[in-house]
Amino acid sequence: EAPMTRSAAAFLREQRVVPGGSMRHASWFAPHPPYAARGEGCWIIDLDGRRILDCANNFFSLAHGHAFPPIVAALTDAIAKGTAFGVPMEAEIALAETLRARNPRLEQTRFCNSGTEAVMAAIKGARGVTGRHRIAKFEGCYHGSYDHAEVSLESRPEEWDDAAGNPASIAYAKGTPPAVLADTVVLPYADADRCAAILKREGPSLAAIILDPQASKAGMVPMPAAVIAAVQQACARDGIMLIVDEVVNFRLGFGGVSPLFGLEPDFVTLGKIIGGGLPVGAVSGPAARMAVYNHAAGKPKVALGGTFSANPLTMAAGLASLAHYDEAAVARLNGLGEMLRQRVNAGLAAAGLPGRMAGAGSLFRLHPGARKIEDYRSARPLPAEAEALPRIHAAMLGAGILLTPNCSGALSTPMGEEQVVLIADTLIKATIAEFQA
Ligand code: PMP
Repeated sequence: EAPMTRSAAAFLREQRVVPGGSMRHASWFAPHPPYAARGEGCWIIDLDGRRILDCANNFFSLAHGHAFPPIVAALTDAIAKGTAFGVPMEAEIALAETLRARNPRLEQTRFCNSGTEAVMAAIKGARGVTGRHRIAKFEGCYHGSYDHAEVSLESRPEEWDDAAGNPASIAYAKGTPPAVLADTVVLPYADADRCAAILKREGPSLAAIILDPQASKAGMVPMPAAVIAAVQQACARDGIMLIVDEVVNFRLGFGGVSPLFGLEPDFVTLGKIIGGGLPVGAVSGPAARMAVYNHAAGKPKVALGGTFSANPLTMAAGLASLAHYDEAAVARLNGLGEMLRQRVNAGLAAAGLPGRMAGAGSLFRLHPGARKIEDYRSARPLPAEAEALPRIHAAMLGAGILLTPNCSGALSTPMGEEQVVLIADTLIKATIAEFQA
């Protein structure tokens, strides 16, 4: 019998003190993930000394992989000067200015510590502007764990439709207050006519519509232009705030994802790469909207605090991350992503396999089925696929490549064509092996 690996031993130990042996729901997979000892560029070195090519990049939050020298230097400099102050620092101005220089719509910003917090702040901001409390979101789409944002994150086919054939509001966490469901309208990601009809009825009571135009849980396929148009029409007609969740997809363009889809949001939520690998979130938007948080003339409509919001380490890492994610870097990484998707799709087609790689820019996701993927329902793995995906994931890890558990990933700037070819060819081999088994 092979001796137990150090990662397996760590997992045994963690299970005693942490429910499920994992601090995070989404990052666990069977039998257990490798435990990282350290990271270096696009590589994780695990406790057993294995070098693993990291395509998960902490759930797409790292643009430059691990221990990126400019981020290490910026953090080393910042850490020696103190890590938390109850007074402001110039770095927070610089990071807010950086966002505004990349997209003028990000005129003013408030930083917080996670994407979940950013979404909560944006929803509360929209409520403050409109004086309404209901929101609409798209079925299956993830926006963190604020109660309203979590509605209909996951559901079984038998509960999908309400009596009128519209997506039902379904609780994700057991014990979700019924009011949360009543106050959260669910929209279909790929049905513009139905969206328009739902919004015609519900629009006047909505504070906000939140959307991610290339939502991972909707298959990482673009939201149809007609759906975006229906949303924009409803917002203009009924005075609804548009919140664009760019926590993941900011990385798709130098100015983020909204400009790529012609979106003019009232609030933008940010996170992940803008913190350079440290905990971060941000709510940003035109000054006229962001005024809802302004406390300068007494109690604001919506108060935002946070002991560690805009902490100096996150600001320093974020500045270094974005400085090196300039237009050329974004274009190069997006080109590598295109190369990856083309190579995988050509390889699967040549092998006569039904699967397809979706995604955009530096983000990718493998769909093993033959059907058209257009929304949460079609992206949801069928039972056979739900068994195949973990095996493909495990085969990739066995070959030294880490994907997220649903076989998606993000490229990082330390990667080049050599890594893209390795990822593509390993994934094609793993998928062929799965279908021939
Ligand atoms: N919005 C989207 C689109 C996300 O993917 C995530 C996290 N993956 C969040 C919000 C929440 O961010 P965080 O994990 O930092 O709370």
